[in-house]
Amino acid sequence: MIVLKTARELKLMRAAGRISQRALRLAGSAVEPGVTTKEIDTLVRKYIEEQGATPSFLGYGGFPASACISVNNVVIHGIPSEKCVLKQGDIVSIDIGACLNGYHGDNAWTFPCGDISDDAKRLLKTTEESLFKGIQAAKAGAKVGDIGHAVQEYVELRSYSVVRDFVGHGVGAKLHEDPSVPNYGAPGRGARLLPGMAIAIEPMVNMGSHKVKVLRDKWTTVTADGKLSAHFEHTLAITADGPVILTLPD
Ligand code: MG
Repeated sequence: MIVLKTARELKLMRAAGRISQRALRLAGSAVEPGVTTKEIDTLVRKYIEEQGATPSFLGYGGFPASACISVNNVVIHGIPSEKCVLKQGDIVSIDIGACLNGYHGDNAWTFPCGDISDDAKRLLKTTEESLFKGIQAAKAGAKVGDIGHAVQEYVELRSYSVVRDFVGHGVGAKLHEDPSVPNYGAPGRGARLLPGMAIAIEPMVNMGSHKVKVLRDKWTTVTADGKLSAHFEHTLAITADGPVILTLPD
C-alpha cells in the first residue's frame, strides 16, 4: 500500500532528511587513508543522536550499525568494522538514515579515499548523474518505470550495469514502504507517481556484471565478478511542481 503524505508530514520528513544528509557529509569528510569504517560509524551515530534523532539502520532487521559502509566491490550493506582500514584509492559507499519525530530520511553517496583511478572516478560520476536522471523522471503523473528506465538507460549507455536484486523504495513513517523503485524498467510501467508520495531513488551501479551475492554474514553484498560498485541515493517528495529532494543539508 502506498501512503501519501500530508504537507505537514513532508515537512517532518525534510527535517529528518536534513539530519541524514548532514550525517552523510560528516561521514564523507572522515573518509581518508588509515581511518576504519567503525570510526566513521561511531561519528555518524554520535551526530544523529546529538540531533535528537535515531539512526534508522541501527537494529533494523538486526543490522548492527548506524551506517552501511561498503568499500570497492562491496555494493551495499557493508558492516562497519575496526578491521576495515581505508586505503588510498578505495571508493567508499556510505548509506545513512535518520529518524526524527517518527519520520525517516535515507541517503547514500560514494566517496573517494584520497586519489582514485580515472576508471573509478568515471564510475562515481556516472552513478551520481544517473541518480539525478532518475530524480528528473520522478514527476507527478509519470510511472515508477519511467524512473528505472531513465537510470538504466543512462548507465548502460556508459557500459556499466545496474543492480537488479536491490531497489529503491517508498519512505515515510517506515524506512521501507511501497512502492519498490527499481533502477531498471520500461517507461510507462508500474505504479503512477502521485503528489504526496515520498520515495528513495538509489542506483547501485557496477563496473562489470549486474550480478551480486550476499556473504555469509547475511548483509555484506558484493559484486559477483569482484569489480567496483557505486551507490548514490536521495529521498524525495513527488509534488505537483516536480520532485523535491528531502535529503538536503538546509
Ligand atoms: Mg534506501
